[in-house]
Amino acid sequence: MCSNFNRNGIKKVKESKRSSQHLPFFTFLQNASKSSKVASQGYTPLAFRPFLRLNETMTAEQKTKVALFLDMAGDYLRDGYKRPPREYAFAADLPAVSPLCSDTTPSDAVVITTPRIPASGEPGTTPGKEPGVEGADSLEMVAAAVRCCTGCPLHTTRTMAVPGEGVSHPLVLVIGEGPGADEDASGRPFVGKAGQLLDKMLAAIGLSREQHCFIANVVKCRPPGNRDPLPEEVASCASFLTRQIRLLKPLVILGAGRVSTQTLLNTSEGIGKLRGGFTPYAGIPLLPTYHPSALLRDASLKRPAWEDLKLLRTKLIDLDETYALNTPEGS
Ligand code: SF4
Repeated sequence: MCSNFNRNGIKKVKESKRSSQHLPFFTFLQNASKSSKVASQGYTPLAFRPFLRLNETMTAEQKTKVALFLDMAGDYLRDGYKRPPREYAFAADLPAVSPLCSDTTPSDAVVITTPRIPASGEPGTTPGKEPGVEGADSLEMVAAAVRCCTGCPLHTTRTMAVPGEGVSHPLVLVIGEGPGADEDASGRPFVGKAGQLLDKMLAAIGLSREQHCFIANVVKCRPPGNRDPLPEEVASCASFLTRQIRLLKPLVILGAGRVSTQTLLNTSEGIGKLRGGFTPYAGIPLLPTYHPSALLRDASLKRPAWEDLKLLRTKLIDLDETYALNTPEGS
């Protein structure tokens, strides 16, 4: 009588109409988490997202066990029986230390390409020390610690922490206030419309994230509803940015927006007054400018933002010979 239903009361689907729901359950979850359309419709089971991310910190053997367990659970729940185990071959076999969380866990979200080698005497460069070596700390360790951090309440509402990414010794360190919805979903900084505009702004003066910049935020987890981060959240997160600046040794910092600039300069002055010139921050010239999302809301800010970018270009020409030789003239 009930042959169209499995023993859990779930309707069976004919072989010819098999949908993605009849993929091995682990594969289905992975596909769902990668599909922005599916994710935006809320089909990606939120409860599984941290689980899939947790999976990135496991050894291949641990990952296989998790995948087989999820497949078995999915088989029983959906169809009432167990299929033969699928064979998995996970490529990355990460260190088995502290599988849940470790400062030493490698990170694949920090994209490090050919670094600029800091010149002797640059801010943060220790004479006699190999450039880029800063004790036992590293960008990967910062990123791993950020992903595990529960230092403020923002960890309870984040989907993914956003440590930041870019080259290891950038010409420019761009610092925004915090991740938005797109960043929270992807774990990457400045990936929405504001991020696309930032890329265009940087390209206008011959810069790219892949070759010249590192992009970070004051807080690494999304404040709900894109509100400003609270002072106590900023304070809890400050050490991550401090470590990043010490390791990155950027030639220039671009403060993107009011919140990041006010935080770095410890002031309540508005961005309209702060922008338009450089202020030293930890021995590094800091140029405040409007956040790209402010430019999207108010086109009249594009002209002053372009003036800021021209200041940035002039400063980089002074500081970096290679940039000076390759920078576009611009208007
Ligand atoms: S915002 Fe910073 S301090 Fe707060 S949980 Fe995220 S990483 Fe930790």
